[in-house]
Amino acid sequence: MISIRCSELDRTLECSGSLIPAAYPVNFSNPAASTGTAGHGVLARVIGDGIDVDDAIDEALAGDSALDRSDLEFVVSEAMRAWRELAPGIAEPRVETPVRSRYCHGTADVVSVDDETAVVVDWKMGYTSDLHDAQLTGYAAGAVELLGRWPDSGYVRTIEVHVRHGTMRERHITPTHIADFERELERRIANPERQWAPGRACTYCPSRHECGARADFLRGSAAMLSAELAKVPSRAALAALYDRAEVLRLALGQYWAAINTSLDDGPLDLNDGRTIRWKEYRIEKIKVGAAWSVLQEAGLQSTDLLESLKLTKKALKKTIEKDVPRGQKQKRSDAVLSALRSAGAIETEIQTRRSVQAPKGDA
Ligand code: SF4
Repeated sequence: MISIRCSELDRTLECSGSLIPAAYPVNFSNPAASTGTAGHGVLARVIGDGIDVDDAIDEALAGDSALDRSDLEFVVSEAMRAWRELAPGIAEPRVETPVRSRYCHGTADVVSVDDETAVVVDWKMGYTSDLHDAQLTGYAAGAVELLGRWPDSGYVRTIEVHVRHGTMRERHITPTHIADFERELERRIANPERQWAPGRACTYCPSRHECGARADFLRGSAAMLSAELAKVPSRAALAALYDRAEVLRLALGQYWAAINTSLDDGPLDLNDGRTIRWKEYRIEKIKVGAAWSVLQEAGLQSTDLLESLKLTKKALKKTIEKDVPRGQKQKRSDAVLSALRSAGAIETEIQTRRSVQAPKGDA
């Protein structure tokens, strides 16, 4: 019987066609994936080895100079925020731990097992908030194998943390969940009649460039969208098309990423006299320290100037933490931001963004 990687379980359960090995597997490396990999490494060093967050980030950047420091700092600080909330309920966490059960195997980001409890934490550092219930169930099955029995609590607590969204999904995986999951998985694996289910599952499928089912799905989706948009679509039609539109958007994102990579090699001829090329734009920023006396000499009043100034939280945080010893930086900036809040110096602006809310955990 084959053993499936836990990270591929959700796709396998959705599309058994993806069990067929890809002839030309897609290379998924991109900046967001690199940040995710580095972020996982940093958290493993901090939680597992107890080293300071800043040291772990420096270490990761020293190993890969192409990493985006600010993005890495962002995902790590959001994950650490979640970890501070979770850690009191997790005894002796093990990081990057290989787990294995009857049909699957993988590496759990954080796992903790003892006679009473079992907990698995999985960091998701990508931009989507898609849930990975099967993957986490796979880790839960592996945690039970690691302990050699079910913990006294009777369940494995799984927590999927979407660090870019500041959300967590907690479930309590019971023996019934595992039995249903393994039965379904066995059915998919054993049935030689593969079934294709193109859709969101295709996003990280290694076969996606060679899959006829996905190509048909994209063509059909484009046709359905344009037919629907030719009239005023109903709310029900918009909802029905949402996932198809999202898959098309991601597919187009892959096209634009390929264009960007190609532009690194030089301008691209569009064969009609036009070319696409990288162009540099000059963006001017005013350095307040150097500008202040010049502006006052020009007759501008300090009170008016202060009104026009806005500090970004990110820049301010950097300044506050500048000479603070490692390990105390976060505490220091939290304290200053809290004082600013009490002094009414922080304005909150409500922005509206589209957000897909996942079902609540079934704990
Ligand atoms: S690309 Fe999509 S439809 Fe095709 S095998 Fe992969 S998941 Fe299934």
